[in-house]
Amino acid sequence: MPRLQFWLRSGLIFLLLLNQPLPAWGWGAKGHKLIAAAAAADLPASLPAFARRPGAALLLLANEPDRWREAGLDALNADNAPNHFIDLERVPFHAAWPRDRYRYMQALDAAAARLRARRHPRQAALLAPQRVGFDPYAAIENYQRLVVAFQEYRAARLRRLPPAPFAAHAIEVMGLLSHYVADGSQPLHTTIQFNGWTGPDPAGYTRSRQIHWRFETLFVNRAIPAGALHGKLAPPQYLAHPFTAYLHFLFATHAQVAPLYQLERQGAFRGRGSAAGRHFVIARLAAGAQMLANLYYSAWRQSARPPRRPFQF
Ligand SMILES: [Zn+2]
Repeated sequence: MPRLQFWLRSGLIFLLLLNQPLPAWGWGAKGHKLIAAAAAADLPASLPAFARRPGAALLLLANEPDRWREAGLDALNADNAPNHFIDLERVPFHAAWPRDRYRYMQALDAAAARLRARRHPRQAALLAPQRVGFDPYAAIENYQRLVVAFQEYRAARLRRLPPAPFAAHAIEVMGLLSHYVADGSQPLHTTIQFNGWTGPDPAGYTRSRQIHWRFETLFVNRAIPAGALHGKLAPPQYLAHPFTAYLHFLFATHAQVAPLYQLERQGAFRGRGSAAGRHFVIARLAAGAQMLANLYYSAWRQSARPPRRPFQF
């Protein structure tokens, strides 16, 4: 639809001229597809062929949650938008993370109440859960959905039901899971410094409100070849504690926030960028793909345990 494209492009240029923040899409469609495809290709032969060669359906779903945001529908957006990031600097319980999103919201509310009691209403307001973000919960919820989808596929095979709809459903969940894991490998999705440095300036880091979009979409589109992740992944590992492993992965991503700003300052992501800039992005994409492959593999193994009660179809 050329007219729609024209208006979208005009809108983006207008925002660029205003130096307004552009919408944050995680990795952009290309990065999300690279990560999902590399993770599926990394799976061993013990997984069914549909999971190892999911094809176009997985790639379509890999950035579906970003299209939910682009659609601009109010209730969907309120539910979905905070699932794409987590501002780790704000999280007040690094040692013992709540195991589900509702306990997490309660813990943030309790921390905010303590701040209000000490007369820090502005800091308390920053702890609103939808401002801190839910990425690890979106990831673990979709991981557990995938365990169920694989259990359903196994049950269907045992009961001699046609497997195709079960396989299609599992691929859909693999796609949704891939999205939030990929977002978790993008350093700017783990930080309050998500779109230009704020607060005291440590080293001349950019304050441009375009760095997020330029880094994750423009630079990936221009500078990262389609085969960039070939040969970059190790065989997937079984994760006995997927949520804990996922949090470690997020903190490893977060450790790359300052290096990202340092590289940006050196022009590493300008145009086709420098070798160091491309290497940095490929390493982040590979970290996302590796975590995703580990989760796919672990979900399959976990699904060998039967569900608590037999499924009804
Ligand atoms: Zn996203």
